[in-house]
Order: sequence, then structure tokens, then C-alpha cells
Amino acid sequence: MAKRRLSKQQQRRIAMLQKNKLKDDDLQLDESSSQLARVISHHGKQLYAETEDQRKIKCKIRQNLGDIACGDYVLVQQALHDTDQSEGASGTKREAQYVVVAVKDRDNLLVKTGFAGAVKPVAANIGQLVIVTSIIPKPNAYLIDRYLTSAENLPAKALIVINKIDQADEETKALVDNLSRLYSEIGYRVIPSSVKQDIGIDELSEALSNTTSILVGLSGVGKSSLVKKILPAEEIKIGQTSEATGEGKHTTTVSALYHLKDNGIIIDSPGVRDFTPINKNLEEISNGFVDIRPFTGRCKFSNCSHLNEPGCAVRQAVDDGAISQQRFNSYLRMVEEFKEATTAC
Ligand code: GDP
Ligand code: ZN
Repeated sequence: MAKRRLSKQQQRRIAMLQKNKLKDDDLQLDESSSQLARVISHHGKQLYAETEDQRKIKCKIRQNLGDIACGDYVLVQQALHDTDQSEGASGTKREAQYVVVAVKDRDNLLVKTGFAGAVKPVAANIGQLVIVTSIIPKPNAYLIDRYLTSAENLPAKALIVINKIDQADEETKALVDNLSRLYSEIGYRVIPSSVKQDIGIDELSEALSNTTSILVGLSGVGKSSLVKKILPAEEIKIGQTSEATGEGKHTTTVSALYHLKDNGIIIDSPGVRDFTPINKNLEEISNGFVDIRPFTGRCKFSNCSHLNEPGCAVRQAVDDGAISQQRFNSYLRMVEEFKEATTAC
């Protein structure tokens, strides 16, 4: 095969690249190739993102961009030598090189605490927290309340799923009814579901439309099973990206961004899976209780902790039945645990 002749410009560029032994960090970028992409997974100096036409691309990250999380929207540019269609030594077309040059302002950022109290980003631009509980393991109202405080403080919508209702006996049925009543009364949607018997799946699917959701909850409650059940068949095949290799893989250590019907998106990542809710201060705790929030401004003392001060509108509301005793107990427990955690440091 005849050797392709290089233009003068290409020859100059190649010479320059060889001379400088171009480092990753100073790749020359084609500004006209700028495009917006959404981060699927992030590992060290590299990330995978999805372009607007739903292609997955591997990107390097320009320095000093700060934290980047799954769900972030980033501006990506292509390295210059890609856009002029240059060919590698063997004549094969080089893999395109993409670089993240900016991170778009986010609507919100879910964080978790890592080692030594360091705050680590988990997921960005979340519209809805889907709190998944189940019959086995049993639903834990306090854990639900903790997740709800996270949702309220993001802020994001919250939805409660009680899965595996096929396993409910008389006693657990009563528990499901009580939880459904408690949370519906304060404005949260509760969906009892069963992956096994196809109950509540369509309702859940509808509730995930037009927003980005994450599924949180204890291991074993059925989060992966629910996601699998509501995904279009082709998404199951292509939706997952191994952080190590970028190849499709069916393991639980990967990050994924799934497209559902009606513009619904689910972000699933290891950070989301082992996320436990945290509160940064006491205000976040009281702000996290939608049913307590309307009363907090009516207490006699503006800094009322609602524990034992006189003229406390919150305690009065509990006595009047306007705030459920169970939710107030959760609030007190969360405050207590927060104080223990902060005085221990
Ligand atoms: P995850 O850890 O929350 O992702 O939970 P998985 O989706 O891995 O499910 C844990 C186990 O519960 C698996 O053995 C599932 O087959 C089972 N499971 C999930 N959903 C249901 C359900 O609706 N009913 C019953 N009986 N089992 C379920
Ligand atoms: Zn008070």
C-alpha cells in the first residue's frame, strides 16, 4: 500500500510532538470540539463520561478542577491530533483523546464521610433519592428518616419503596401499612413492591421519569433487582462500565448511568451503594424533618433545641398529634447521635 503523504502542517505538528514528548497534562486541545458530557465513573486522573448522543468516552482530567462526582456535567475537548485524523505508526487510526476542561456548576452534591472525617463526593445533580427498604431485611424507620434528612438537605425529592412484599405475613403487612400511612401523611410517596410478583414496578418506573435518581438502602433489600426489572433490555447490556477497563461487565463494583423511559436516569456507583447519610450540623437535622420544620420558628427561644425549653412549639405539636411521636423520637435520636459524634472528636 502506498505510503500516505503527510502535509507540511502535519509534519510540523508531528515533529513538535516528538520534540516535546507531549505530556498528558498539556495535550493541545481543539476548542471547537467542545461538548458537554455527564460523568459516569471517576477514577483518579481519568473518568468515563456520556456525551449528549449517549456515547461513552474515556477522558483525562485537566488539573485543578476540584472534586468531580458521578452525575457531574463536564465540558470535554478533543486533543488536537485527533481532529486532523492523523494515523498511528501502524496506519491504524488512533483512539480519540478527550480531556475534561471544566465542571459545570452543580444543582447539588451528595457527600459521604471518608477516613478521618474527610468529606467525599458521591453523586452530583441528583433529582430524587429512592429509599429502598424491604420485608426481609425488615424496614427500619430510623434509617428511612436519616435518608430523608439527606434528601431534604440536598435538596432532592424522596420516594420510599418497600420491596419484597411477596414475603409479607400478617404482622409485617401491618408494619407496611403503618409506614405507608406515616410517610404519606407527611407528603412522601410510598410504593410497596415485589420484583418477584411484579407489584409496584410500573408505578416505580413512572416515578423515575424526567429526573436523575439514586437508589439507596441496606444491602440485600433488592436495589439491583429493581433496577434490572425496570431497565429497557438494551440498557442492561450497555449500561455498565468497568472502572478498570471500560469494558461492559456485570459485577457490583462498577459505576453506571442508566437511561429509563421518559427521560429517567439512575446513577449507580459504589459510593452510592455504600452511602450512609450524614448531617453536618443541627440545623440540617431539623431542616431534614419536613413535619417538624414548620414549627421550629414558632418556639419561644429562637435557638430552641426542642429538648426541654419552655414554650417549645415543636413539643407542643407532638403533644397535639400534629407531629408523630415516632418521627420526633427519630429527631431526638439523630440529635443525640450527632452530639455524641461531634464531642467524640
Ligand atoms: P441489593 O443488595 O439491594 O442490590 O439487593 P439485590 O437486588 O441483590 O437482592 C437481594 C436478594 O433479594 C436477591 O436474592 C434477590 O433475588 C432478592 N429479591 C429482590 N427483590 C425481591 C422481591 O421482590 N421478592 C423476593 N422474594 N426477593 C427479592
Ligand atoms: Zn422548640
